[in-house]
Amino acid sequence: MTEACHANGVDFHCHLDLYPDHETAITRAETARIYTLSVTTTPKAWPRNHELTRGSHYVRAALGLHPQLVAERAAELPLWEQYLSETRYVGEVGLDASPQYCSSLDAQVRVFRRILECCAEAGGKILSVHSVRSVPTVLDMVERFCPQNRAIIVFHWFTGSRNDARRATALGCYFSVNKEMTRSERGRTLIAELPIDRIITETDGPFTEIHGRPTEPADVQYAIGEVASVRKASVDSVAEAILTNLRTLLRSGLTLPRPL
Ligand code: MN
Repeated sequence: MTEACHANGVDFHCHLDLYPDHETAITRAETARIYTLSVTTTPKAWPRNHELTRGSHYVRAALGLHPQLVAERAAELPLWEQYLSETRYVGEVGLDASPQYCSSLDAQVRVFRRILECCAEAGGKILSVHSVRSVPTVLDMVERFCPQNRAIIVFHWFTGSRNDARRATALGCYFSVNKEMTRSERGRTLIAELPIDRIITETDGPFTEIHGRPTEPADVQYAIGEVASVRKASVDSVAEAILTNLRTLLRSGLTLPRPL
């Protein structure tokens, strides 16, 4: 929490364990002083991610079970549950209804429901949520299984409608936005219309590229630049707002009610 006050920027969704050198990726985020949420895709990756980020000032590991992996890894849900008490951060979790993954949608819904219920029961968790082609369902599930005062939901790479965005905002959710989202007119309109106090930045590295290389946490500066340009605001004011939002988000996570 105190570290967040001295950060240079925020990358609230990055897969540091998927870079060729995991330890170097953490060190680079730490040196750049970017508050980085290092999401994971399977609970089996948790112990190593947790261990490597333990002493870090700016990097936090999140416990995930990626919806695109649920088809093969749904059986790891008990392992995910077992590790939950070791972290405040959960991700990457959610739903993916794109053609490639919709055959596992029933299993994804079952897994995500359990994840939301566990988070609601534990209290105080912060979730980075994937919602490709499934935003209304994700919102329904959040509303039903993990009400607002039980966890903080951060929509990663949100692609919902204007109405979905309003619903998510009313539910207290945040949005982590990346540079890639500003390539489409729709993404730019969304970013221009979101409440500024719910926006934070992300890279989704190494799955996005910049200058022909995978992005890394320090590249959130480009996302900040894009948000500023889309909103016709100054880079400094957007950078400041994002750090303020991070502090608010982390603080409200701490004040959420504890176990039921
Ligand atoms: Mn991701």
